Amino acid sequence: MSPETITVDYLIIGAGATGMAFADALVGESDHTMAVVDRNHAPGGHWTLSYPFVRLHGPSNVYGVHSRAMPSDSIGASLASRNEILDYYDRIMRDVLLASGRVTYLPMHDVAGAGDGPPGTARATSLVNGATTEIIVRKRVVDASYVNVTVPAMKRPGYTVGDGVQVVPVNQLVELGGVPERFTVVGAGKTGLDACLWLLSQGVDPDRIRWIAPRDAWLVNRSHEGAVSQFRELTYLHGHDSADAAIGALEELGLVLRRDPSVTPGAFRCATVSSTELDRLRGIENVVRLGRVRRMDSTGVHLEGGSITTPPGTVYVDCSADGLTQKPTRPVFAENVITLQPLLPCLVAPSAAVVGKLESLDLDDVARNALAPPAQNPRTARDLLSFYGTRMERLHRWSGSPELFDWLRGSRLSAGLFDLQEMTDPDNRATAAALAAHLDDVLKRDDVTV
Ligand SMILES: Cc1cc2nc3c(=O)[nH]c(=O)nc-3n(C[C@H](O)[C@H](O)[C@H](O)COP(=O)(O)OP(=O)(O)OC[C@H]3O[C@@H](n4cnc5c(N)ncnc54)[C@H](O)[C@@H]3O)c2cc1C
Repeated sequence: MSPETITVDYLIIGAGATGMAFADALVGESDHTMAVVDRNHAPGGHWTLSYPFVRLHGPSNVYGVHSRAMPSDSIGASLASRNEILDYYDRIMRDVLLASGRVTYLPMHDVAGAGDGPPGTARATSLVNGATTEIIVRKRVVDASYVNVTVPAMKRPGYTVGDGVQVVPVNQLVELGGVPERFTVVGAGKTGLDACLWLLSQGVDPDRIRWIAPRDAWLVNRSHEGAVSQFRELTYLHGHDSADAAIGALEELGLVLRRDPSVTPGAFRCATVSSTELDRLRGIENVVRLGRVRRMDSTGVHLEGGSITTPPGTVYVDCSADGLTQKPTRPVFAENVITLQPLLPCLVAPSAAVVGKLESLDLDDVARNALAPPAQNPRTARDLLSFYGTRMERLHRWSGSPELFDWLRGSRLSAGLFDLQEMTDPDNRATAAALAAHLDDVLKRDDVTV
């Protein structure tokens, strides 16, 4: 059977948060056609595979797409649940993208050979019946899969597990079919925090939980994220000339938190908590800081820094997947391809929407790339400074482009760029640029001591 052929202006590979935010912005700002292709059965990317009790950890008002509010769209503690997120993306797909009459959606399809030569031709193959669709791309292929999010359901643990040891991926925590005597949570990222908080919310005594946390991480204080006062608060960093001092100032301002007051965190992965959640987490006293797990067997857990014995009846909860990968950055706009990457560390949804808006503007790629330098997601404590510095730098950069700035000010997603409104004042723009340059200087000449 010969393949069906469709011709579109854009082929978007991936219907996760980034592909959806890009498509929504471009559909709203242009009359272009597009095909959105994804291996999954529904839009939403990794959320379709995440554990059932996952919620957004940042405020909903910096997530989703430009055109429609998310459920619980506020700065408050009411964070969208997995079901709400999936329902939201389903509605965006049906009511915005497909309703435009300009979008073809191919779920359960894998794309190969995209972006090969102008005009590109790609082949999408159904993962269900094997049929192929040839996609002729008049303008560009949009790679919304480059950042490559991994959640525990997508991979096996990176350590060896001996016979008789019960390790469950975090998704299975809701269906254990028995009451374990003890839990050991492996991993201290967003998923590990969620697993511990969920167990505590189910009434598990903190003494029955052991937490393997290879590195302590700085945590973003949720009550400050998306709040309007950060720009002014951050000017306090001007008086701090070393990375240690600047990180200390962020803590003094209450922007970032640490779980254990006696341990200086060496990591920063954008995990976000409220102070109530933090208090609950502090109730877990059995925290193992011996590096990564190498092997688990009937004698116990063997980690990089030593071994620990395990009481019988322990269930291990694997939360060790890296949900925030660091990929080498590349220009967002290239001749036939757009590669979606964070323009603001960790804020992938507003970043992809900005790229969609830029694509709709009458600019060349040099000008577009000048407005869209990609940013790395953070890893170490030092990256706290580029996390805040990049936001300041983008405030300055984007407020210098009237068309982009006007659109952003009208966008629900701009809450991630707190104080955007303040950038109409040239003095505030200069302060934002100076702050970004200051943090950059601090990073260049100083090493944080951890
Ligand atoms: C548990 C968890 C919670 C998070 N919470 C937040 C939060 O609260 N706020 C926040 O800002 N960020 C959060 N993040 C960060 C995360 O990066 C973003 O939420 C975002 O969902 C990532 O979207 P994405 O589109 O880049 O990737 P994905 O969700 O991975 O989507 C990529 C899609 O591309 C598809 N695909 C890949 N290759 C192909 C191919 N060849 N053919 C067809 N399809 C393909 C995949 O099937 C997938 O659906 C969280 C991350 C995790 C893991």
